[in-house]
Amino acid sequence: MEGPQCGPEELVERLRRSLPSPSPERFVALYAARQRRSLFSILVGVVLSQNTNDKNAIEAYRRLVEAVGGELTPEAVLRLGRERLEEAVKPAGMYRRRVDAILAIARWILEHTEVEREICRLRPEEARKLLMKLPGVGPKTADVTLMNYCGFPLFPVDTHISRILERWGVSGGYEEKRRWGESFFPPQLRREAHMLLIELGRRYCRPGRPRCDECPLRDCCPAARAVEARGAGARPDSDGGEGRGREA
Ligand code: SF4
Repeated sequence: MEGPQCGPEELVERLRRSLPSPSPERFVALYAARQRRSLFSILVGVVLSQNTNDKNAIEAYRRLVEAVGGELTPEAVLRLGRERLEEAVKPAGMYRRRVDAILAIARWILEHTEVEREICRLRPEEARKLLMKLPGVGPKTADVTLMNYCGFPLFPVDTHISRILERWGVSGGYEEKRRWGESFFPPQLRREAHMLLIELGRRYCRPGRPRCDECPLRDCCPAARAVEARGAGARPDSDGGEGRGREA
């Protein structure tokens, strides 16, 4: 497996200097945690972000909070009913499937009242296995939720990160890429690296035509060096693994 040709500290420092600091306006999990810091609210926020962008997910989350009268709790969601839930989360798309997942999570949390309190005491691997038993919760949703709710030093891999890693020569599925990130970045850098790499993917390492010429990682990126070696006008592979790292 390859990787960038600069160390994790330098890489994160370059990204910090060139990209906006991660904020609740750009990451739905931060938005949800700011509104109401509960396992349920963060899980719902992350479910709303599956296979769509954070802008749509934040809009759906905002409408959902408004529809339940300001407090996003499992009880409030169950009281609201399917029709109004679907109407609220429409901006995120695939609203029927999302509402199925949100209702199942709400029932599960009410049936396991200790889970919000106890889950962060589990080992991260046990906690993610527990969440992944829920319908609509795959490894990325579990990892993003646990990273933000419990502060576990995980490295969730979304579609942007998956594409960047492919371009760096780090191949494989979700688990291989997550493990690569957890071995490359020390625990205290993982959460910030996760969000900064997503911003890198949004602004520079985009699907289609990456902006290597302006990218802050250009001189430590194996893909950019390959482009230089091939000559002007060449580009890294345009797909770069887009679509991988997504989950149902
Ligand atoms: S130099 Fe190009 S391929 Fe490498 S990370 Fe930056 S945008 Fe992506």
